[in-house]
Amino acid sequence: MNSSSAPELVIVGSIGIDTIETPREKRVKILGGSVSYACAAASFFVQTGMVGVVGTDFPAEHCELWESMGIDLAGLQVEEGKTFRWSGVYEENMDNRRTLLTELNVFETFSPELPEAYRDAPYLFLGNIHPGLQLHVLEQVHSPKFVLIDTMDLWINIARDELVDVVGKCDMLTLNESEARLFTGKQSLEEAAEALLAMGPTFVLIKKGESGSVLVSRENSFSIPAYKLDDFKDPTGAGDTFAGGLMGALAESGGTDEDAIRQAMLYGSVTAAFGVEEFSLERLAVLDRMQIDERYASFRSTCLAD
Ligand code: AMP
Repeated sequence: MNSSSAPELVIVGSIGIDTIETPREKRVKILGGSVSYACAAASFFVQTGMVGVVGTDFPAEHCELWESMGIDLAGLQVEEGKTFRWSGVYEENMDNRRTLLTELNVFETFSPELPEAYRDAPYLFLGNIHPGLQLHVLEQVHSPKFVLIDTMDLWINIARDELVDVVGKCDMLTLNESEARLFTGKQSLEEAAEALLAMGPTFVLIKKGESGSVLVSRENSFSIPAYKLDDFKDPTGAGDTFAGGLMGALAESGGTDEDAIRQAMLYGSVTAAFGVEEFSLERLAVLDRMQIDERYASFRSTCLAD
């Protein structure tokens, strides 16, 4: 991928130094954050530009890794201070996760400013950050063809009005089942999706963990299962990897319609399934497009057979 050309896909989100404990292993101060996972996944498909912030303590080796994956770092800001830190622990079944620590550090005063070369990007992914910042990024991109927005329970709880406003300006919203219920107050996923569509996006993509994901529009609903893995090490960032892979594949196809999104969902799923095989970006760093395409072909035939 030529990292000197203007990115076709721009992604904004968090960059974190994570400490993660699973029942089998504890890993300290590893690279994390929504934009790190999402850009890594998207980089297999198109030229991707990262918008995020790190502190002066951020290890250079992480930037070198992103660059080796062809990610454009012109939108990465380095601010005086410490990088965002997050720590979480998984319960025995790996289904539930508890946050032990969140230190915002330079993330607290982050004001994402896009380089000129990013402002004509046709595809934009507003990863999980405060909705006010997501709107600030959206306003800097001239006329994007397709905008995906992600969020989390925190913003639904503390910045609901701002979130509703920015969601209404996007083409697709992605969130998980519990967030969809929290955001709408509806228990049934069908009713929740309907309420989310009423906020303005054309598509709502609900992630259901081990049960896969469902794409809902005003006319249709399309479900895919999760790609089945015998074993995985760390589910952190799986949703960001899924969404990043999806947006990368969609941008590569050049489409924005339902068929193109369905195909991109399959690519997002298989890329996320690779990501969770190791901690941080360790698996994605050694992955190649041929392996993604092989897994995509087998996953596609499984989904069609279902
Ligand atoms: P996920 O598994 O999708 O929740 O994403 C995990 C990543 O999100 C980790 O690598 C964290 O660094 C990052 N993260 C945790 N808390 C937040 C937060 N409040 N805002 C943005 N990113 C966060």
